[in-house]
Amino acid sequence: MKKLGIDLGGTKIEGIFLDEELNVISRKRVPTPQNDYNEIIQTILNLIQEIKAEDCSIGVCTPGAISKKTGLIKNSNTQCLIGMPLKEDLENSLNQRISIENDANCFAMAETKLGAAKNFDVVFGVIMGTGVGGGIIINGKIHSGRTNIAGEWGHHTLFHDGNKCYCGKNGCVETYISGPALEKRWTQLTGEQQTLAQITKNLNGEKAKQWKSEFLENFGTGLANVIDILDPDAIVLGGGLSNIEFLYDEGKQAVYDKVFSDLVETPILKNKLGDSAGVFGASLL
Ligand SMILES: [Zn+2]
Repeated sequence: MKKLGIDLGGTKIEGIFLDEELNVISRKRVPTPQNDYNEIIQTILNLIQEIKAEDCSIGVCTPGAISKKTGLIKNSNTQCLIGMPLKEDLENSLNQRISIENDANCFAMAETKLGAAKNFDVVFGVIMGTGVGGGIIINGKIHSGRTNIAGEWGHHTLFHDGNKCYCGKNGCVETYISGPALEKRWTQLTGEQQTLAQITKNLNGEKAKQWKSEFLENFGTGLANVIDILDPDAIVLGGGLSNIEFLYDEGKQAVYDKVFSDLVETPILKNKLGDSAGVFGASLL
């Protein structure tokens, strides 16, 4: 069956239509209407109408998760989606069942089927950007868990008296190694406001060394915990922070140093699909 994927992002909505061999037949990007749920639904429906050539499966990648309890969107940074029955509303309008998954699961799926983690059985896909998330693929399928929370390593606790997190807890991974958290820590240490790209360009001073060593320590502990529990065949990094090259050598070593085993060989890979993982992942659901 042919496949259609929609990636609903904070700033753009992308649609892709694939044939049975996963070749791209058509693809289009439009801006995401801001703060208006009904307009978002209408924009998605129009996009599907434009790119869909014939009957196909439809998958949607969303920011945030679908609550297994209510079927409504939760934990989304596109706030007008929170509490809305996105899946049901789209299915009613399209007269067809659709699949819907959060962006971390779509990322993990796309990189496993088409990207950096091809041919690995158990894959942990990591998103490190504005937030920190993750998705687990086991033998080609998303492992979403009994309550849809599997892979959410961004909210496991690194320091129980640590930074306050919006989720209500303290010391979550996300409050240390997300983009905004790392920029905030830089400002605390240096008094300067810089973007992550600027910070990582020159890491030579004392403060810079401290910033980097804390980052590596927290990245190492966070992912070592994941390896201790899941022991995946590969880890793939995505999101803005996946462009930080030292994560693939020094970062990997920091992870390996903390794993509870005499043998660690988990590849930590850079994503291959970049921005396109969401839309490809959606089409593969
Ligand atoms: Zn949290």
